[in-house]
Amino acid sequence: MRPVDLTVRPFTVTTGDHGTFTADALIVATGASARLLGLPAERELMGYGVSACATCDGFFFKDKELIVVGGGDTAMEEATFLTRFASKVTVVHRRDELRASKIMQQRAMANPKIAFAWNSMVADIVGTREKGIEAVVLEDTVTGARRTQPAQGVFMAIGHRPNTALFEGKLAMDETGYIVTEPGTPRTSVEGVFACGDVQDHVWRQAVTAAGSGCMAAIEAERWLAARGE
Ligand code: NDP
Repeated sequence: MRPVDLTVRPFTVTTGDHGTFTADALIVATGASARLLGLPAERELMGYGVSACATCDGFFFKDKELIVVGGGDTAMEEATFLTRFASKVTVVHRRDELRASKIMQQRAMANPKIAFAWNSMVADIVGTREKGIEAVVLEDTVTGARRTQPAQGVFMAIGHRPNTALFEGKLAMDETGYIVTEPGTPRTSVEGVFACGDVQDHVWRQAVTAAGSGCMAAIEAERWLAARGE
């Protein structure tokens, strides 16, 4: 069974719960998922002190000590943003060198509220849903030594994965799996198929920009159908 068939018109989409749909035009809005470490405590405490979005949740951590996991531009951006609220932000990175661009590194390193835990990974998160987070257990990636550091919030910033497995080989994607759209439009490589939101955007990734691009896709699909007399 093919869950999505874009080789015939109308297109067909087969869902788990609601059967098969046909569509003259299709809008893909499957989003992207934040990469997580895979710790049981991370799942358990997601929304209770663990977050993957500083702009969404940073406000709730006024005067708290926070951990940001990752060494890329997102981690630098989130750590810098969180210093507006937090008393201290520790960036935990598994290597001794950042992946982030020089300018983002410099900005984070010049911030007196940001500290770096090099060659470190979060091995566990100590806390409960009732009381929130108390600490993280950090493991040295070179020596394996463990230490506990107090923290009331943990922000995962180790990248995102677009939810595009369904469309592999069917729509043009970039090397990281994001759907490629014609610049400034929601048009994909298949005529009549449009993409919007985080599935085609690894830069802005905000609810408001996703909603805006969703509106663009809806208008574009309607115009495309109208032009074909549908
Ligand atoms: P990246 O893939 O660039 O970085 C992910 C970071 O997380 C890396 O440092 C990586 O470590 C680390 N990491 C990945 N998996 C794990 C793991 N399992 N455990 C611990 N650490 C892990 O993702 P970003 O989200 O930072 O950036 C994505 C893209 O968006 C980039 O092209 C970036 O430049 C861009 N961007 C630009 C911004 C700007 O210019 N303002 C802002 C935000 C993003 P390692 O380095 O060891 O691989």
